[in-house]
This record gives sequence, structure tokens and C-alpha cells, in this order.
Amino acid sequence: MKVSLASAMGTCFGVQDAINLAMSPEFSNELTIVGQLVHNPQVSESLKQNGVSLVPGIEDIDKIQTKKVMITAHGAAEKTKKRLYEAGFTVYDASCPLVMRVHQTIKSLVAKGYFPVVIGQKDHVEVKGIVGDLDDHLVINNETDFQKIKSSGNRRLGIVTQTTQQRDKVEALVEKIRGLEYVDDVAFVNTICQPTHDRQLAVHELADQVDLMIVIGGYNSSNTKKLVHVCDEKGIEAHHIESFDQLHKEWFINKQHVGITAGTSTPENVINEVHTKILEIAKDVEGQTSLAS
Ligand code: SF4
Repeated sequence: MKVSLASAMGTCFGVQDAINLAMSPEFSNELTIVGQLVHNPQVSESLKQNGVSLVPGIEDIDKIQTKKVMITAHGAAEKTKKRLYEAGFTVYDASCPLVMRVHQTIKSLVAKGYFPVVIGQKDHVEVKGIVGDLDDHLVINNETDFQKIKSSGNRRLGIVTQTTQQRDKVEALVEKIRGLEYVDDVAFVNTICQPTHDRQLAVHELADQVDLMIVIGGYNSSNTKKLVHVCDEKGIEAHHIESFDQLHKEWFINKQHVGITAGTSTPENVINEVHTKILEIAKDVEGQTSLAS
């Protein structure tokens, strides 16, 4: 059984920079992260072990016990940051520059007279940050949401995407929006980030070669779920796991080639543990097969 790693996978620079900042010794026991720094359970656990406190979001401002707070790689609206400053906190901003690019892009589309639309998940912290300073906006995720565009009565749309969206899906949606009879003009800026794009491209390539894909990442990680989705679309058996102890030997029986990929918030050590365990399982399964034949 061959085991291959995707040519691009795992932690992106935005997530790594944010983790490095949060782990910095100067913060020990004095920092609270507002919102999940990254959607990865192992990273959240090691932050807690380093004395970093976590609160789910700005709604929990009253529960913050430290003077220093950090905005996550997913970014936040200016009004969220302002609220923290005004409450007397020292704010460290670990927003990824590629998320901030989306904030700037949508504001510039609004300045040009377009009605702002985000393709993404409306409850995702990144999307909440993107739209958080806008007077009005729409978040759409699929064709069912076109009704929202119609009801809004806006005919000139400025569209951006959540950074972790799937390129094919976004392009198909935008094409359909351009064709809607109740839309006159669409300005679309593809704001999917390069690391996400690289990981999607790599999983596409690898999925063409394997008959099983193991996708590693937090269950609430948007970009990890998209990697699984790419495999589903190609009809490749894929299993989404958070750690090596969730691997099942049965998945590997009669498989020729196994691929491994991971979302942008999955640390290298977690990928290495999974890789090592898969090599062990592969050896075990092959041993059993040769005994049986
Ligand atoms: S996934 Fe992209 S936008 Fe998000 S932190 Fe990583 S590089 Fe930045």
C-alpha cells in the first residue's frame, strides 16, 4: 500500500504567526484570546496549557480576566476592536493579512456604489468580522440564497468570498448571479486566500491518484471540510479526523494508495502522528493480506 502526502497541506502562515504570538512568553497567564484562534482542538489545548485564556467571542467581554486580549487570525470588525480598546484592554491583533484584504476589498466595493455580498458561512467568525462594520450586506452560501438578493432589491452587487471557500463553487455561483434577471451589474473579487487555494489544488491532484484520503483538521474547520468535499465530489472515500487515534484499520483493507491532507490550522506534529500511524496500519494490513493468500 502506497501512502502519499499532499504537496501543500497543514498550517498556513496566518495561523502559524497567530499561534507564535499567542505562545510568546511575555503573555504567560496574562492573555485572553477573543474567539477561537484557530479551529483546531490540539492548538486550543496547548494554548490553555500555556496559561492563555479563551473566550468564544466579544459577547463574553465581561468574562475576560486579563488586561491583554488578542484578536484571532480570522480577524474582527473595527467596532469589535474599538469596544475592547474602550473597555481598557491592550489589544493584540493577530488578524491574518489576507483576511484584512477582504475587509478592505468589500469596503472599497461599497465606496464604488456596490451592495456588499459575501459568499461564505454567515455564522463563521471570519464572515462576521468582514461584514461587522457594514451598514447593510448579504451573506450567501448557495443558490437557495439567491432569493435574498431578489428580496433586497439591490441590482449592483459587489461580491467577495470568505478566504476558505472552494474556488469552483464560488465561480459557479458568481456566474449564476451574473445571469439573474434581477441583477444588473456584478463586481466580483476572488478573495480566497492563496494557502487555501494551494491546499485545494493539491488535494485535487492527489485525489486523482488514491483510493482513500485521510483529511486531518478540526471538525469545525471550514477549510478542512472543503478538502473532504473535494474528495466527495470526485467519488473518493475520505475520512475527516482530528487525531491519529481516530483512524480505523477497516478503512485501509483492500486499498492500494492512501492520500493524506490537512487543513490550514492543523499543526505539523498532528500530521506526523497520523502519518506514522497510517504507515503502521498499512504494514499490518499488508501482513494480514499476505498471510491470507
Ligand atoms: S487560511 Fe488563509 S486567510 Fe486564513 S489564516 Fe490562513 S492564510 Fe490567512
